[in-house]
Amino acid sequence: MVECLLAKQNVVGSSPIIRSKKYIIMELDPVVLYQKCQPTNFSKSLANLRLAQRMVQTMIREQGVGLAANQVGVDIRLFVMYVDGELFHCFDPEIIDHSIDQIMSREGCLSFPSEQCEIPRYRTIRARYANANGHFQERDLSGLAARCFQHELDHLNGITMHERQGARSA
Ligand SMILES: [Zn+2]
Repeated sequence: MVECLLAKQNVVGSSPIIRSKKYIIMELDPVVLYQKCQPTNFSKSLANLRLAQRMVQTMIREQGVGLAANQVGVDIRLFVMYVDGELFHCFDPEIIDHSIDQIMSREGCLSFPSEQCEIPRYRTIRARYANANGHFQERDLSGLAARCFQHELDHLNGITMHERQGARSA
């Protein structure tokens, strides 16, 4: 989460380049960051896909490993991740099982640049999420993918890393 783990050329080069008009919200309207997002309308699959692709472009441009829709002002339960060379579009994501133990680690967030928080996250999770068409799958995630998924899912529930940690640190 802290370091840029992106191989920019890989993602940009292997997917249609869509000029991103999405910008990460910081001071514009922070309210949207603290609201629970609405479920996806899967009848709009093409619009869903285009939104996810634009968010990927924004995430890459900003050198993040994850980005939630409400970070760019869109009220939909969607986040994208790029971890360990794999790109994720996660619509209506949820955690359906998790390890008992948690790991502490520092996290950053594109909505709070230059800040880091020490946050406990489940070591492993079983994640469930859909693609833009509403096709669900389950994945067992660990390491950075598990941590990022939990961070981004928090965003969709209006929870930032500050609430998780309870205090800020530089
Ligand atoms: Zn974040």
